[in-house]
Amino acid sequence: MENSKRGLLIVLSGPSGVGKGTVRKVLFKDPSLNLVYSISMTTRNPRKKEQEGKDYFFVTKEEFEKGIKNEQFLEYAFFVGNYYGTPKNYVERLRNEGKNVFLEIEVEGARQVLEKCKDEDVVSIFLLPPSLEELERRIRGRKSESEEIIQERLMKARREIGLKDRYQYAVMNKNIQKAAKEIAQIIRSRMDK
Ligand code: 5GP
Repeated sequence: MENSKRGLLIVLSGPSGVGKGTVRKVLFKDPSLNLVYSISMTTRNPRKKEQEGKDYFFVTKEEFEKGIKNEQFLEYAFFVGNYYGTPKNYVERLRNEGKNVFLEIEVEGARQVLEKCKDEDVVSIFLLPPSLEELERRIRGRKSESEEIIQERLMKARREIGLKDRYQYAVMNKNIQKAAKEIAQIIRSRMDK
């Protein structure tokens, strides 16, 4: 039977490299959270092991800009040389089916979502790194980006961390399991309302 209650819109934001994806993977192992991942569209090239339609929908700049023109995005941002955006229809459909839709996005996109969706079923969470040194270590650990891009991502991270007070919750990712547990508790407390 279909759930009659509209699902939550969960926005997980935080600097690149903070571990949003890793924490998300832990959360998605818990079926009681009733989560679905909102797959974003991007113009960035796929990294090794990334799959089309699973990690992202990889599109050209022209295709993305057509999406902007046709108002297909709930939010979008230009981040370190590429577009990233959340397709609107998918999010709406799943929330109407009672699913808790999970967005893992950078701060500019999160700002747009929080501005547009002021309903009480929006849950905004900012994931913090234990320190900037640790964040740098994690970004470098990916070994997928040039020094210039790494520096740009780090500079952006410093600015992004300053925006954490815009969110309803801030969680530090010192330990993945602990951070995931804390976020699961937040989601559960909001599901019960
Ligand atoms: P990456 O290139 O590392 O996959 O992503 C770069 C940043 O863009 C990350 O902070 C990621 O969370 C964010 N991002 C991914 N998808 C979206 C999206 O649809 N919209 C926005 N605004 N940011 C996104």
